[in-house]
Amino acid sequence: MPKTGRVKKKMMNKDLYAVLGVSKTASPEEIKTAFRNLAKKYHPDIHSGDKKEAEEKFKEIGGAYKILSDPEQRKIYDTYGYDGLRGRAGSGRGFEGFSMDDIFTDFSDIFSDFFGFETRGSGRGSARRYNGEDVRADVALDFEESAHESVRVVEVIRKEACEKCGGSGIKAGTSRKECATCGGRGKVRQSQGFFSMVTTCPKCGGEGSVAEAYCEDCGGAKMKQKRRKIEVKIPAGMDGGAYLRLSGEGSSGLNGGRSGDLFVVVNVRPHEIFARQEDDVIMKLPVTVTQAVLGEKIEIPTIYGTEKIDIQPGSEHGKIITLKGKGFPSVNGRGKGDMHIIVEISVPKGLSSKLKEAYKNVKVNEDYESYPELKKRWKTIKKQMEKEVKNHGS
Ligand SMILES: [Zn+2]
Ligand SMILES: [Zn+2]
Repeated sequence: MPKTGRVKKKMMNKDLYAVLGVSKTASPEEIKTAFRNLAKKYHPDIHSGDKKEAEEKFKEIGGAYKILSDPEQRKIYDTYGYDGLRGRAGSGRGFEGFSMDDIFTDFSDIFSDFFGFETRGSGRGSARRYNGEDVRADVALDFEESAHESVRVVEVIRKEACEKCGGSGIKAGTSRKECATCGGRGKVRQSQGFFSMVTTCPKCGGEGSVAEAYCEDCGGAKMKQKRRKIEVKIPAGMDGGAYLRLSGEGSSGLNGGRSGDLFVVVNVRPHEIFARQEDDVIMKLPVTVTQAVLGEKIEIPTIYGTEKIDIQPGSEHGKIITLKGKGFPSVNGRGKGDMHIIVEISVPKGLSSKLKEAYKNVKVNEDYESYPELKKRWKTIKKQMEKEVKNHGS
């Protein structure tokens, strides 16, 4: 059983300028300089503190720079904020969507000029670590169901180490030999005019060695796509759009990289009579004129079964009756929401002659003293009419 992670309502939404420590009016050069300095500081190969923390910070910096270094994306971000970038190809994936390798690849020109040949290891090539990708699964719950804990089996397609070669990528009984292109260093230096650039060796992909023969199953990729069924425990009270993060249940990492996470996004089907507001349940309750006037005890549904409520005599249209603790359990484990019942008075139409007589009889006997709210309102309405007569004559 995978452990369930934190529940977050909203994806990370940081100020990208603040992430890079620049002002909103910073020039492209200033942004680039800020990125270079921060990337140097938090580069996981260099940073002396907590590696995992540095990596997170590094990804955040890279994600911010990726957006702010692109004039078009920066303009969208300035105008619409982070949400404006969502759903656009190649952007708006959120910081979580950036892997270390995205950043190394995208900004290799920046890194190559401050990390020389020897930054990774002692000049010998080594396989680059790849962290596994995050994967996503969706579950749909009925409104009432979401009030209780439930267990669902989700199907995900994720990359796992090839079973045949144990993730080595090479054919059984063969070995690896030194890469002739880079002489085992894993990197090559390319010169163009004045510029010299260090890049990953295209032949061995930075490993410094190549296989004599590749695994027949994965063809040297070391990974295979697998379809997996994963049991997920969904805590009571999760609202639609919230998600669970199952740490390490995404695609496997490569060459010592860590596994990605599985995000389970919870969708809650809308209900015909109930609505949700935070942890509260809202329900509109139609009542007849006589129920509102005379009052009545009536039975209504809640997400936990039926309940008897008191419609007080003289209930106004729009009156709210609250049932404490009949809302959703808080996912943080802090009690339960309430249920709010909004009284809506229905007016009868197409009366039988007998009922019409009865209403006429009510009208004749009607005492406006018993309409305190109406009396008060009419006083101001009359005042308005007197003002108009004075101004315009009649
Ligand atoms: Zn090579
Ligand atoms: Zn294989």
